[in-house]
Amino acid sequence: MSRYWGDEVASLSPYVAGEQSKAEGLLKLNTNENPYGPSPRVIEAIGQAAGPNLRLYPDNTSKALRQAVGQLYDIDPDCVFAGNGSDEVLAHVFKALFRRQGRPLLLPDITYSFYRTYCQLYDIPVQLVPLSDDFAIVPDDYAGPHRQPPAGIIFSNPNAPTGRVLALAEIAGIAAANADIPVVVDEAYVDFGAESAVTLLEQRPNLVVVQTLSKSRSLAGMRVGLAISSPTIIEGLNRVKDSFNSYPLDTLAQAAAVAALEDPSYFDETRQAIMRERDDLTQQLAALGFEVLPSMANFVFARHPQHDGGELARALRAQNVLVRHFNLPRIDQFLRITVGTPDDSRRLCSVLKRIMG
Ligand code: PMP
Repeated sequence: MSRYWGDEVASLSPYVAGEQSKAEGLLKLNTNENPYGPSPRVIEAIGQAAGPNLRLYPDNTSKALRQAVGQLYDIDPDCVFAGNGSDEVLAHVFKALFRRQGRPLLLPDITYSFYRTYCQLYDIPVQLVPLSDDFAIVPDDYAGPHRQPPAGIIFSNPNAPTGRVLALAEIAGIAAANADIPVVVDEAYVDFGAESAVTLLEQRPNLVVVQTLSKSRSLAGMRVGLAISSPTIIEGLNRVKDSFNSYPLDTLAQAAAVAALEDPSYFDETRQAIMRERDDLTQQLAALGFEVLPSMANFVFARHPQHDGGELARALRAQNVLVRHFNLPRIDQFLRITVGTPDDSRRLCSVLKRIMG
């Protein structure tokens, strides 16, 4: 029987996200969600927005949200683009900036898997740049001259799933050496100790900073992502968005996002708690014999010299603890573990102790 779709679609493999079960008793440390709920002000704002006005279409320019981001970083709201999670923002970035350029996108060989998925989906050639032996991005490898002129560059900072960071000066160097192409820095995890490249934008209009409210603002369920860049690049993203006639964010998500950005003390308290717990968890895992990469994200990336990563992940799953394992070259011995509460770390480590004997 005809399958009704072509070879291109047949070649796509569905994205396998970390297991999303919310079953009771499950310790979910596999998708880097925030262990603390969103700010109480967010819940209040959603309550207020959830009224008769829901009969109206949302503001398709997300003006209040872009203004709140503008205030946060002291930038013009015209430098801000909002979408349903940073995954959707990234889709617009790929469509607007990298598609049909006839040149490859440069990216690390180990980074967020969606970049390659989007390249496949939008027919963008890929040029992979290996990480160093200690899993760091090597800035010089992106500075050029390039074998083939690239359409652009993308990486996460901190990188995922390694948690390793580049310094701002290194990012500035990459952007300066590639001034005629977009350099995208995905800052999904930037609020857990790294510095945002937003401050470089004035000097480097080719930088595109992508952020999410899913992690440090604890709004994964609302789907809010941002691109922050020069007005010209943002205009390109808006052209792509508008040609799909899309409403990027629903009314409740916009209200929630504004309220989250306007509660800096809750944000600070919870992210500091997560950073403290990252240190504690790192020590507890090291005491169990794990090698833990230095992380500036809300997860750690760790391997045990005597235990297979995949087997550990399966054994943990059997004990109702979810962590992330990637069946990929170089990192298949690692576990990526989301930083939760102190209780979460204790439970994880006591189960690990039992499993590893
Ligand atoms: N970028 C990176 C590096 C991520 O790890 C994630 C989360 N999986 C995302 C973007 C997407 O996050 P969201 O769509 O929830 O904003």
